[in-house]
Amino acid sequence: MVRAYVALGANLGDAAAALRQAVQAMGQLPLTQVRRCSSVYKTAPLNTDSGEASVAPGNDYLNAVAELETGLAAPDLLNHLQQIEQQAGRQRPYRNAPRTLDLDMLLYGSARIDSERLTVPHPRMALRAFVLAPLAEIAPELVSAAQLSAVANQAIKRLDHLTAPD
Ligand code: ATP
Ligand code: MG
Ligand code: MG
Repeated sequence: MVRAYVALGANLGDAAAALRQAVQAMGQLPLTQVRRCSSVYKTAPLNTDSGEASVAPGNDYLNAVAELETGLAAPDLLNHLQQIEQQAGRQRPYRNAPRTLDLDMLLYGSARIDSERLTVPHPRMALRAFVLAPLAEIAPELVSAAQLSAVANQAIKRLDHLTAPD
């Protein structure tokens, strides 16, 4: 079994419901359990890919991070995550477009993966407060104070907890 961390995000439709349903769906994947879920965080739509934040299209985002324990191989886990995105109506009209659900694999144990379809650790996770803050909440040993302070200028608001399914 491998411990994997998944970043959840949504800013189209009922984003809170999409995150809750995604946690449930991940808990029903073969060989997989959801161990922990962070609070939900709300952020303005910002594009931070260049290292400098610029305004991105769409409504505010809801984001969270879930910890999975899985016996799925990383490419299989990615396939399942993409199926859950599809079931939530995910479309990709252009890069960073508003989305009903985004599920990104942040970490898969200590694996380093660089294939055409999958890069792990997620290459942009360190640029994003909406990833680092919820990850630090459930796995503080994985995020350094220096990493958190590097994104401290990105305004995010912590909301309620997402509950892991029984
Ligand atoms: P970003 O990756 O910057 O957060 P995004 O999540 O909006 O952008 P998507 O459209 O969801 O990007 O995914 C684009 C492609 O990224 C997918 O087809 C997938 O194959 C690839 N990908 C590579 N590494 C990962 C990963 N760690 N988790 C999820 N998808 C990944
Ligand atoms: Mg993403
Ligand atoms: Mg994605």
